[in-house]
Amino acid sequence: MSPKELMISRYEAFVKKDWNYLAKTATNQSVEELELMPELEWLKLDVLNAVGSQVEFKAYYRDKDGVGLLHEKSNFVQEDGVWKYKDGELYPTKVQRNESCPCGSGKKFKKCCIK
Ligand SMILES: [Zn+2]
Repeated sequence: MSPKELMISRYEAFVKKDWNYLAKTATNQSVEELELMPELEWLKLDVLNAVGSQVEFKAYYRDKDGVGLLHEKSNFVQEDGVWKYKDGELYPTKVQRNESCPCGSGKKFKKCCIK
């Protein structure tokens, strides 16, 4: 699996709350730690860029405060020939008013899930 494929499979594991898979595919995340993460409903993943060991993405979610966005550049490393998630750099960002709503309604964000 390439870093990009791994990134996508880890997003799908977040959707399913498959903490075992996430712990197994990261260098330093434990199941115990992952279980403590805030409860989020993941809506959409956009992979923006995948070069070498880095994958930049935007992942949209809904929590008790509304719809939010995680924009991260993740670093992956190979351990015994297998790519694993190492860490990531976060970009401060939010969903733009004129973006199509991440919930998939087809409406603009400002006319849909914005608060
Ligand atoms: Zn919406």
